[in-house]
Amino acid sequence: MKLLVTGGAGYVGSVCAAHLLDAGHEVVVLDDLSTGHRDAVPDGATFVEGELGATAGEVLGTGGFDGVLHFAARSLVGESVEHPEKYWAGNVVASFRLLEAVRENAVPRLVFSSTAATYGEPEQVPIPETAPTRPTNPYGASKLAIDHMLTSYANAHGLAATSLRYFNVAGAHVGGTRRLGERHAVETHLIPIVLQVAAGTRDSVSIYGDDWPTPDGSCVRDYIHVDDLADAHLLALEKAVPGRHAVFNLGSGQGFSVREVVEACRAVTGHPIPAVVAPRRAGDPAVLVASSAEATARLGWTPSRTDLHRIVADAWEFAGDR
Ligand code: UDP
Repeated sequence: MKLLVTGGAGYVGSVCAAHLLDAGHEVVVLDDLSTGHRDAVPDGATFVEGELGATAGEVLGTGGFDGVLHFAARSLVGESVEHPEKYWAGNVVASFRLLEAVRENAVPRLVFSSTAATYGEPEQVPIPETAPTRPTNPYGASKLAIDHMLTSYANAHGLAATSLRYFNVAGAHVGGTRRLGERHAVETHLIPIVLQVAAGTRDSVSIYGDDWPTPDGSCVRDYIHVDDLADAHLLALEKAVPGRHAVFNLGSGQGFSVREVVEACRAVTGHPIPAVVAPRRAGDPAVLVASSAEATARLGWTPSRTDLHRIVADAWEFAGDR
């Protein structure tokens, strides 16, 4: 298939682009490099530098596209609270323009990078796709708005649409000759932060709260290997049905606490990694774990890289190469 990958210079987008190329697809990456990296675009992909809303029409207008994988987004929860306008413009408005270009050019399918943040504070864990969607920040709300757009475009215009709601994406694509992983100018995610401490570029990691209602008092999350996530995108492309919008949660189905993650990083790296307890971070739910039963049943997807040490080891290998 000939595919447009928006945000293909970013973490998840670049890894998915690599998997798509390996599966024999033709890949065009569109990215404005605001947070992505030119050298993360895998060899073999055509690269177009441009802002999504302004450029998607031009790119899709060149014709022959069989699908879009839409990763380009702003994705910092804290920033979304302080500057919601950036999320309505960068996520919602730009995605609307992309969808219009998809419609005008009769592109049949689209896979969207959605998020567990669309659910907000869960009532039930593991979280199924039928859980209420009550995002607690503009980032989650902007992603949910795009999910709603996709439902309407599937119903009205026959688009085969799939939203994949990621839980905590982690690890790196380090198989073969490529090295693709998480590289943010401002790092907020737990595993890369802990590995920065191991590498000596940060003094200690803060554990945001040790009085949560969890077994060891720190927050529990569901860490999914980025290569497992990429596998789900390829299956979603294959299984998409015209006129339907499918939504799938993607996680490993197991929860690890912040303390367990720090321990795993100590074991993998052999570094002591000082950790200090800090106040809770605003907006953090205590426990987020996915039920991916639907993805298994309907996409035939089963994550295979679920061992936390493996996830951390791949991220560490990537960090060591930088
Ligand atoms: N966390 C932490 N210290 C950090 C960064 C994150 O204790 O320096 C915790 C955070 O409160 C959450 C978990 O680690 O419970 C995962 O946070 P991350 O930002 O990686 O992902 P999120 O779950 O917010 O999407």
